[in-house]
This record gives sequence, C-alpha cells and structure tokens, in this order.
Amino acid sequence: MTFEKIRVRFAPSPTGPLHIGGVRTALYNYLFAKKMKGDFILRIEDTDQTRYVPGAEDYIKESLDWLGLALNEGPGLEGNYGPYRQSERKHLYAKYAKQLVEQGNAYYAFDTAEELAEAREKAKEKGIHTLKYDATTRMNMKNSLSLSEEETAQRLSDGTNVTIRLNIPRDETISFEDIVRGQVSFNSNELDDKVILKADGMPTYHLANIVDDHLMVISHVIRGEEWLSSTAHHVLMYSFFNWTPPSFAHLPLILKPSGKGKLSKRDGAKFGFPVFPLEWDGGEDGTYLGFKEAGFTKEALLNFLLLLGWSSGDDIEKYTLDEMIEAFDLSRIIKSGARFDYDKAKWFNQQYIIDKSTEDLLNPVKELLIKEGVTDKDDAYISSFIELMKERVELIPEFYSKASFFFSKPSEYDEKTIRKKYKSENQPHFDKMYSIIENIENFNSQEIESNIKSYISDENLKFGEILPVMRIASMGTMQGPDLFTSLELLGRKEVLERWKMFFQQLNN
Ligand code: GLU
Repeated sequence: MTFEKIRVRFAPSPTGPLHIGGVRTALYNYLFAKKMKGDFILRIEDTDQTRYVPGAEDYIKESLDWLGLALNEGPGLEGNYGPYRQSERKHLYAKYAKQLVEQGNAYYAFDTAEELAEAREKAKEKGIHTLKYDATTRMNMKNSLSLSEEETAQRLSDGTNVTIRLNIPRDETISFEDIVRGQVSFNSNELDDKVILKADGMPTYHLANIVDDHLMVISHVIRGEEWLSSTAHHVLMYSFFNWTPPSFAHLPLILKPSGKGKLSKRDGAKFGFPVFPLEWDGGEDGTYLGFKEAGFTKEALLNFLLLLGWSSGDDIEKYTLDEMIEAFDLSRIIKSGARFDYDKAKWFNQQYIIDKSTEDLLNPVKELLIKEGVTDKDDAYISSFIELMKERVELIPEFYSKASFFFSKPSEYDEKTIRKKYKSENQPHFDKMYSIIENIENFNSQEIESNIKSYISDENLKFGEILPVMRIASMGTMQGPDLFTSLELLGRKEVLERWKMFFQQLNN
C-alpha cells in the first residue's frame, strides 16, 4: 500500500520554547507538503506531563504564525484526524499496546522504580554501566514473561505498577530506507524493551507517535537526526501491527558556530545570538532572545534556515517562500551537520532589508524609535532617514544603535580622529564654513557639498583635515552615511547648534 496523499506532521513536545532546529524541521515539512500539494499538520506531543511547560504550545503556534507556515490541520483547526493534542487522544492508545501483548510482541512489566534502581546498582557492581531491559535481562525482572500465570493475573487485577514493554526479538536486523541517509540498519540486540504504556495509562512517545502517524495517515516523517535510533523501534512496531510505515527523512544536526558539537540553547546566551524564533520568558532561567526581537525579518530567517541543511546544488541563495516551495526537494537535504553561521543569518537579513521599500520599513523603524524614546520626528524625516541608512544595517535595531545621532545631539566625540585631524590653525576656516552653512540658500546636500568643497579648494585646504572634523562636529563619530546628505537630513538649525557646541567645547 502506498499513501494517496502527501501528509506530513510537525510533532513538537511542549517542553519549552521551540529551538531553531525545530523551526527548521517545521519549515522543511511545510515546504515538502506545499510542493507536493499535500497537508501540513501540527500535532502536539504532550504525553509526558512531567515535562509539560505552560505557554509552550502557544509559543509554537505563534512562531509558525509569525513565519507564515500555515497549517492545514492542528489543535484549534478543523480536521478529519483530530484531536491533534496527544493528551486528548489518551483513550486511543491502550488498546494498541494490548494488541501487541496479545500477539506476543509486548508484555506486561511490573517492576517498580525502586526495583529498577536496585537492578541497575547490582549491574554496576558487575561492571555493567547501563543496564538494558532486553532479551538478556528480562527473565530476571518482574514481568509477564518471567512470572507465573497466576502471579501475572494477580498483579494485573491488583493494577498497580503495570506497564507494557516491547518484546524486542534477538538477532534480527532491522532496516529501513531513510531519504537522507539511504539504507539504515540496526541489530535488534542493540535495542531495549522500551516501555510503550506507562503505569498511569499514558503512552510513551514511541507508541503515541506511531499510532498517531498511522491514524493520521502520515506519509512522510521528516524530523531531526536525534530520532534516528528510535526509528528502529518504530519500524519494528509497524511490522508488529502490519501497518505500512511512512517514509523517513532525518535532518542533519545543527552545529555550534565553531562546527564542533550540537548547537544548544545555552550557546545563544554565550555567543549573544538568538537560537529561538521569538523571545521566551524562561522565568528563573532568564529571558531568551528571539530572532524577531533581535531585528530579523521572517523572510531572512526562513531563507537562512532553508540553507541550514539543504542545498539546491546551484548558486542561488535568495529565495522567497514561493521559490523555496518550488525548489525544495527532500533528496537535496545534506547528510553532514550544518554549522550555525550567525554572520550569514545577518547577511540574509541585510539583503531583505535592502529589498524592502521605505514604506514597508516605516512602521518597524517607528516602533523601534518609540521604544528608544524618540517621538519628535515626523514620517517624512523618518522616511529620509531610512533611505539613508537602509544599506548600512543588518538588523532593524541598528537603525537606532548605528545612527542615534540623527535623533539627539552627540553625547561623546571620536577623540582619536579629532587628535589626528583637527588643527587649531584651521579654526578660522571652520568659522567661515559655519557662516557658509548659515547662508546657503537651499539647504540641500548638493548645495552644501559644492559650497563647502569650493571653499576647501579655494583656500588650498586639505579635504582630509576638514571633512572628518565636520563629520565629528555634526555626528560625533566617523561611522555614518554620506556626510552632506546627513547634514541635509539633520537640518540647518541643528547642524549649526551642533557645530557651535562642538567647537566651543574643543577650544575651551
Ligand atoms: N515529539 C517529538 C519531538 O519533540 C517528535 C519527534 C518526531 O517528529 O517524531 O521532537
């Protein structure tokens, strides 16, 4: 049997904010679904109540929403395969676990946490560091295979501490075809008898995951590499149930910027970059920065994530969401780990900022300025400012951090440049240029430039000794857009005030 329709799911556990790796998984699922005219489904895997974090599900939905990865089905959406939260599907799973017991593919296990801990201790004494519950040990444990029928019946009717474990066969090779990795094989002796139904009646990830993938008619499972080893258990369970397994594609790890080791949420704080899509208030853990709040556009983040583990094989780097859908292909997912290169992410963002119209940037920049306490500039001023700065910023907040001098007088000056460039014998010339500025008829960049430059040439002055000082006097720093356009934007009155203040301070 093959699947009639492409249906993929993004199946996060609401155990905290969605890591950037999870966002990439969602993106690849989305792109594949759209490309194949299939369905993209969100399933919340919340069977482990001890790890449940309030707010995490909303965070996941808000993140997908911000990025425009629209769902076909999911919690809160109509769909034929709901509910889409595993905690609301609790009643469904036990019967499948019991079916496996009846078939001999699973068994009841009664070991308490203490008994398991004790067995682990004993094993340690014998030099076995991780005790595996499997064919070599299960007959020493308390379960329906090792205990008599009467005792088993007794414990089952008693009902405490009843779990169900998979009965993993000995000496079998479990193989499956992974779209990214090709043929993957495991020896069944490496696998343990995983618990599939817990004592509280809740399924574990493994059971719930495959039952739901089956019931929701999922055709392709696209998920992170960390789930590759679980897939052996899953494939075995599909064969126990006699169900057609979906196709699997395991995405490469996202590596630290150094390329060594997996990117962790702590790396974000350590290197000062976001590893989450949106800001997350981690309570005692502190607040985690989000790509959105760091000033990324969603287009840039998606584009960056697309290439973090996938390559088109040609030189194209920039993709709109539609172009991504068109180009995407599971067979081009890269096998090796993908290095998280924050500079590359910023480069993408810069490209998208440059592409945006001034009109599109007006609101985000206005919001930023209000946050910084700037309220006295009108839209015309802000629009000209955006045009001037657009190609010089990588992140939206840099519209302020790199150019706050357009909104308030400099509070400090680049002393090094002053020491190098300012000559007191030039002061009379600066005074003269002050009055040129004062008297220019049309205060625009061309006129300012031609008047000032003519003066410099006529007086045989050095451009390199005059212009830097003018820039520092007006803006405090050597960093900034074109000098004359900047002066025009600041406006004559403001420029004169700044020069007066600067030269007075300098000559005191
Ligand atoms: N709940 C798992 C997670 O948190 C899902 C893995 C899968 O996609 O099967 O990633």
